[in-house]
Amino acid sequence: MHFKSFSFTSCLLAISCLSACTEFQNQTDLVINNVTVVDAVSPIRVERSVVIRDDKIFAVSPALTGAAATTPNVIDASGQFLIPGLWDMHVHFLYEPKLTEQMADLFLHYGVTSVRDTGGNLADLAALRERLTERSRPSPQIYFSGPLLDGEFVVYDGSDPARPELGVDVANTSTANARVKQLKDAGADLIKIYELVQPDVYADLVAAARSHNLPIASHVPLMLTADEAGPLADSMEHLRNIELACASNWQELLQERRKTISEFTEGLGYDLRRGLHSAQRLPAIAAYDENRCNEVLDTLQATTQVPTLRLNTVFRQQPWTRNDWPIALTGMPNDVAQQWQSQIDLLKHNNTAPDHRFADWSLFLISRLLERKVPIAAGTDTPIGLGIPGYSLHTELELLVTGGMTPTQALYAATVAPTHFFGNTDEIGQIKPGMTADLILLNANPMDDISNTRNIAAVMTRGTWIRR
Ligand SMILES: [Zn+2]
Repeated sequence: MHFKSFSFTSCLLAISCLSACTEFQNQTDLVINNVTVVDAVSPIRVERSVVIRDDKIFAVSPALTGAAATTPNVIDASGQFLIPGLWDMHVHFLYEPKLTEQMADLFLHYGVTSVRDTGGNLADLAALRERLTERSRPSPQIYFSGPLLDGEFVVYDGSDPARPELGVDVANTSTANARVKQLKDAGADLIKIYELVQPDVYADLVAAARSHNLPIASHVPLMLTADEAGPLADSMEHLRNIELACASNWQELLQERRKTISEFTEGLGYDLRRGLHSAQRLPAIAAYDENRCNEVLDTLQATTQVPTLRLNTVFRQQPWTRNDWPIALTGMPNDVAQQWQSQIDLLKHNNTAPDHRFADWSLFLISRLLERKVPIAAGTDTPIGLGIPGYSLHTELELLVTGGMTPTQALYAATVAPTHFFGNTDEIGQIKPGMTADLILLNANPMDDISNTRNIAAVMTRGTWIRR
């Protein structure tokens, strides 16, 4: 009996010694000690040591004590909280050329370690990613779609200097497959379908993306409804055009849209789209039908919504009124900061009150999505609409909570939900052995208040500290 119990104890000792020995064999390991580990999947773990080896999390164990806790590779994170690096699932590196080169550093500064670019010239994006990969300091992981795949009339056709050329036309089904193959060959990680594609082209683009194994991000094409187009895509953007499908008179609205688009033979795609949105959006919101909307949302249970609440509510939340805005703005290139400041000054002196109905609708829809079990991922559309790269992701998290999410759900939207889109849930987004070491050390608990994700002590990307 005595022998048996001795053997059991020594076995336990052997196991703990073995794990301790393994953890510290490697002199280059980094250890974050005494930290509270918070991710969106596991329960909160207090007084842990997180061991980083190379670019991966190697172990999450009880905190080190004694001499082991004082070696130079161990940092004491008592009172601090470790969360996974954040994703921004909707960014545009090429939208503001004066900002393009700074965006990667801004993302990392704010703990955004992975981004999905949802529209821009493919060759330029591929070159940017290569430059960032080859430089000596780290950059976020960048996934991109290349151009918005649009219809015969292209919304972002580059004809107005205020709107960059983000789109290309896929005017008929014969070009759809070739276009997608070309994107895949040039390094695209997904495709992005836009609002003026025809229904048969939409179907062909979807089939081509499936055959080339590319996930699909999509706006709802205006010739279709959210419950027709959405289930065929992997993500939908901005919650836009869901309001059209949720209206009691959705069939009438759809018929009107189809007629307008079919009869449009001359002019700008931008004007065509804008005309349809301004004719139908607010009337559709006013005709909201909850039963109809539930039916629509129930078709979207496998389609991640990227609401971009930050963009949809920008005039309501007025980011420039926040205490931390001036400092965040000074982190931007001077000419961009000045340009944005003059836009803000104009807005302040504009006497017409902004219309908040779409902003309110967007926030309201979050609770509906949650109830109908529609997945949600965090994205901002930065830098469009005064979105400071990185900084604006924290605003998105706060707005998701305003819309009805718990802090854990919001953290999930910016860490795990994006991995469902890319199929890399086993590699990134949680704090456990084997995961990529993209981490943020916070000075306060984000589960108490999601805005504590702004209270950053340090950021690590793939095992390298970039801000401490
Ligand atoms: Zn966008």
